[in-house]
Amino acid sequence: MAKVLFSSWRGRLIDARGKEPAEQPELTELNLPAELDGAPLKAFLGWAGLVLVDPQVNIVAALWHYFKAVQRESCGRCVPCRIGTRVLADRLGKLVEGKGTEHDLNLLTNLGRLVKESSLCELGQSAPVPLLDALEYFRGDFEACLGASKPVTENNLTYRSLLTAPCRNGCPAHINIPHYIGMINGGFYEESLGIIREKTPLAGVLGRVCVHPCEANCRRLLLDEALSIRVLKRFVADFERNNGPARAAAAPASPGGKKVAVIGSGPAGLTASYQLARKGYRVTIFEALPVAGGMLAVGIPSYRLPWDVLNDEIELVKSLGVEIKLNTRIGKDITFEELRRDGFEAILVATGLHDSASMGVEGEDAGYKGFFPGVEYLRRVNLNQEIELGRRAAVIGGGNVAMDCARSSLRLGIEEVYLVYRRSRAEMPANEAEIIAAEEEGVKFCLLANPTRILAENGRIVGMECIRMELGEPDSSGRRRPVPVKGSEFILDVDMVIPAIGQVADLSFLSGDSGVEITKRGAIAADSLTMATTAPGVFAAGDAVLGARTVIEAVASANKAAEAIDHYLRTGEAALPEHMIMEDFIEKTGVYDPEEKPPLIGNLPREEESCLPVSDRLKGFAEAELGFDGPPVALREAGRCAACLRLGMAVI
Ligand SMILES: Cc1cc2nc3c(=O)[nH]c(=O)nc-3n(C[C@H](O)[C@H](O)[C@H](O)COP(=O)(O)OP(=O)(O)OC[C@H]3O[C@@H](n4cnc5c(N)ncnc54)[C@H](O)[C@@H]3O)c2cc1C
Repeated sequence: MAKVLFSSWRGRLIDARGKEPAEQPELTELNLPAELDGAPLKAFLGWAGLVLVDPQVNIVAALWHYFKAVQRESCGRCVPCRIGTRVLADRLGKLVEGKGTEHDLNLLTNLGRLVKESSLCELGQSAPVPLLDALEYFRGDFEACLGASKPVTENNLTYRSLLTAPCRNGCPAHINIPHYIGMINGGFYEESLGIIREKTPLAGVLGRVCVHPCEANCRRLLLDEALSIRVLKRFVADFERNNGPARAAAAPASPGGKKVAVIGSGPAGLTASYQLARKGYRVTIFEALPVAGGMLAVGIPSYRLPWDVLNDEIELVKSLGVEIKLNTRIGKDITFEELRRDGFEAILVATGLHDSASMGVEGEDAGYKGFFPGVEYLRRVNLNQEIELGRRAAVIGGGNVAMDCARSSLRLGIEEVYLVYRRSRAEMPANEAEIIAAEEEGVKFCLLANPTRILAENGRIVGMECIRMELGEPDSSGRRRPVPVKGSEFILDVDMVIPAIGQVADLSFLSGDSGVEITKRGAIAADSLTMATTAPGVFAAGDAVLGARTVIEAVASANKAAEAIDHYLRTGEAALPEHMIMEDFIEKTGVYDPEEKPPLIGNLPREEESCLPVSDRLKGFAEAELGFDGPPVALREAGRCAACLRLGMAVI
């Protein structure tokens, strides 16, 4: 176990230098990973202080490397950061060479404070924190560099740094949020979109349906309200759609590279194909359905994600030379083994979860008319396939899929729609905004109830028996376990039953000699960094690996897979570039600090997007949320961003 010798991290002082190992706290107490890229962590310097694990690390030298990294990242717009941090780096370099003076020490202290207090953005404001801590607690190390002393020995250490921000770190794909919002602030919408497109072709999609974990990491939450990061993303994507196809930052490298097969055209398959095509690979996507987009096309209803928005972004991927073969199911139309024989040197499996989990309720397998598994129901709605509708529907579940089934049912004209959920509203896993919209539109919530039997006459559903539930002790998910109340059965008068309690994968196409291991919970086993499976040259991404998750997580895993595939095809080994390994390290460390009191101006209310009135929403599948009402609103919202940049540096 790695022990902490010294830490000033997040204002908690630990000084265990010279103490017995038993008295030295473990690194895990600070939430810092003990390893980076397979090497033990020796020290960490960053926005919230410094941590020393290995006494071999010379703090003065580490700070010199740290300020050289700050200099590389400084945008240069304000003098304290641009010039001040350069002077700090130069003076630290002088000390490392053994040529420092007492004057240099005073200057480091005074200039460090000045840069902290007068820089315009948080990079300059937070960068001097480890320096000022070191000057206070490692004075002897600085004094050893004064006069004509020997240069500092650096013991073959490696220094790896990363610029991030709480929001960027909270985004699974680590989209450079402060940068793209900064570009909106300057009126550079195309450039802003280009920054988003470094990570995904799906800006317009994510601008509408992303669950935006970035916003839960926005420091404005500690003052007033989180920035509307998702809608700002939508704003730049819509601006391009409405003002001509600029196609920011999507240019492919010259094609002609090796062939890569991607199975599945959901957000994972599309993002990986886009990134691989940009690197010059020849990519073919094999898609079982007659349309591309995965759950974006056949799961999420068009009132949340209009088809033309999705199709434009699919066209963007195709414009890079990616071929999409529709109606081609691997395992039926082509076998997995055939793909290898057809000269594809790497394969990405991104097949998602397209079967509904069963409820274990009497009557669900009887083939009754009026019974529709949730994902199948939404697929039929989205593909405009015929559905024999009833008048009263029960949707079972409390997640986003259940909300989509219920809200779509109202739009199809079903008179009464019940949402049957076994816990209370507070435990519902769906997004709060989705729950509110369902309530506003008239979905009737039947909470603390669970189906026990589906009732039918002449093969047609005539009701659903349910039992009342009460909440017991918390289960492994941390939520209180629902317990049936004996004898409380009641009949819900419905003629349609739509269970939406979870999805499962169909991975039967991998069951032959694929060599791809499937986990006990029915997911593809893949390395969490490289997304490499147990079969050489086969990678996997998205829901098929992660379980039922989100679009942005599918995008994040696809970006990792694309980088690892590129490395594999160049070297024969799956690996990620250093910056992505560092992103993973900082993600585990955490950047957002809910205890912090940010020195920012508060009371700046968040701009909200406009919405279609409820009465108009229920007339059909027209888009319900409409984005910001023009550039001035977007500019005001972008102006609330405090650009909370943070630089972290690991020493290994
Ligand atoms: C109704 C619904 C609403 C959702 N709403 C949101 C939301 O608002 N926000 C959010 O972030 N997430 C949402 N999600 C989750 C999100 O859609 C998924 O996490 C995401 O689509 C997973 O991406 P993927 O690329 O891994 O798989 P998918 O999007 O499922 O795509 C997989 C593709 O692979 C194809 N395929 C499968 N097997 C084969 C085969 N053998 N051969 C060829 N092709 C095959 C499928 O047809 C499909 O097109 C929602 C999901 C559902 C079901």
